[in-house]
Amino acid sequence: MKLILLGAPGAGKGTQAEVICEKFNIPAISTGNILREAIKNGTEMGLKAKSYIDNGNLVPDEVVIGIIKDRLAEDDCKNGFILDGFPRTIPQAEALDSMNIGIDCALSIEVADEKIMQRLSGRRVCLTCGATYHVDYKKPAKEGICNNCGAELVQRNDDKPETIADRLAVYHSQTEPLKDYYKKAGKLITVEGQEEVKDTTRLVLAALEF
Ligand code: ADP
Ligand code: ZN
Repeated sequence: MKLILLGAPGAGKGTQAEVICEKFNIPAISTGNILREAIKNGTEMGLKAKSYIDNGNLVPDEVVIGIIKDRLAEDDCKNGFILDGFPRTIPQAEALDSMNIGIDCALSIEVADEKIMQRLSGRRVCLTCGATYHVDYKKPAKEGICNNCGAELVQRNDDKPETIADRLAVYHSQTEPLKDYYKKAGKLITVEGQEEVKDTTRLVLAALEF
């Protein structure tokens, strides 16, 4: 299965991607995680991407398109993959189309803006393994510590309240039009992501029966 996850930042794409990736045994590819890893490692790409991300802006299309091209060429993507956070603009979607890999569907997780504000401001992440948590809704077993790898959890710079509104605006203007793009291609499925994680998971898995 070749799947795209759409939705506002904090809609729960990453959380659902983890579930789907385990169930279908395909890799989940998060451009956000790849970029944060590059920043942590101080690579040239990371240096370039950091100010865009910290300010709530999108990283230039050519950078993320390059990342995805390389990643999808790897062996583990042969039987399918989940894209979490790509494409985020129409040019990115067009670039993906031109790779001729035959996307099966684009699944959009719908969450209202007020809820997004709440979720992102309470989100905590592990910069070592990419796992995400929430101070109220998805607590780690031990406060401030990653369940998977024991590293310390932090708040992302771009999850600070002053940046969240900017990211939402970017989502509505640049990413949301992708719903229409995939609808026209007959590939769009939408699910409600407002309630608890397990509710969304149930809807997502039901939707993927096709
Ligand atoms: P979230 O979990 O909030 O949806 P991500 O972790 O996917 O956010 O991405 C964090 C940031 O990384 C984005 O706000 C953006 O700056 C950058 N980024 C990630 N994916 C893309 C993309 N496809 N195009 C442009 N920028 C991207
Ligand atoms: Zn971790």
